[in-house]
Amino acid sequence: MEYDENGVSIVPSEFKKEIFEEARKDFRYEEYVRGCLNCGVCTGGCPPHRFFDFSPRIVLQNMKSKDPELIWTMMDEYIWACFQCFTCAMICPFLNSPGGIIAVLREIAVRRGFESAKKVLKPYSRVLLKLTAYGNQLSPDMIQPDFFPDWGPHIGYASTDLAVKRKAIPMPTLQVTNLAWDVAPETMKELYDIFDEAGVFKIIESVDPSLYEIIQDIVDDVRSS
Ligand code: SF4
Ligand code: SF4
Repeated sequence: MEYDENGVSIVPSEFKKEIFEEARKDFRYEEYVRGCLNCGVCTGGCPPHRFFDFSPRIVLQNMKSKDPELIWTMMDEYIWACFQCFTCAMICPFLNSPGGIIAVLREIAVRRGFESAKKVLKPYSRVLLKLTAYGNQLSPDMIQPDFFPDWGPHIGYASTDLAVKRKAIPMPTLQVTNLAWDVAPETMKELYDIFDEAGVFKIIESVDPSLYEIIQDIVDDVRSS
């Protein structure tokens, strides 16, 4: 997002209204944003609230205000603090779903290629590639200490001699390390059609054009096979 020398957002107010309207027109809006008591029960049960300056009560109050300026303040880092655990939806006495409306706002950020969405999705580019191009989510060769430092001290051991360990697994696993399972080309072609129809490729293009190019090369190869 762009800011002036005083750190104030210089995004035109018309654009902020457009974003609010896009959220309001979402088919889930009425279900997720109802009346709000401002009781804070949702915030009391919200895990990230303990660690960040983040509150589902504020999310609901901002949405209820219908003020595009207030809603815009959440479109940068704020919406990405949510864990999507939906505790808030389970405990809200008004049956609101702050986590649900956050998902709607996130989808807008991704569709429109906002910088915050690009930053958050960057670490998932390998997963997106495997999933959309090969129908796999995680393959053995992706388990590397640099990629998953939070998996603890034994991740280094897990990533060595992968080919040997893979062959030692008694179940049929293709015995390769770059795929977890085999997906037939015909199935992949159907998946590509679904991704096309659902706008998945367009979204990837808006958040990561280089990744999109790589995926499209693979898709073209499989489609022409
Ligand atoms: S969203 Fe629900 S739980 Fe949260 S403040 Fe409003 S009424 Fe209370
Ligand atoms: S879904 Fe998000 S806002 Fe709701 S409780 Fe979980 S982390 Fe908090």
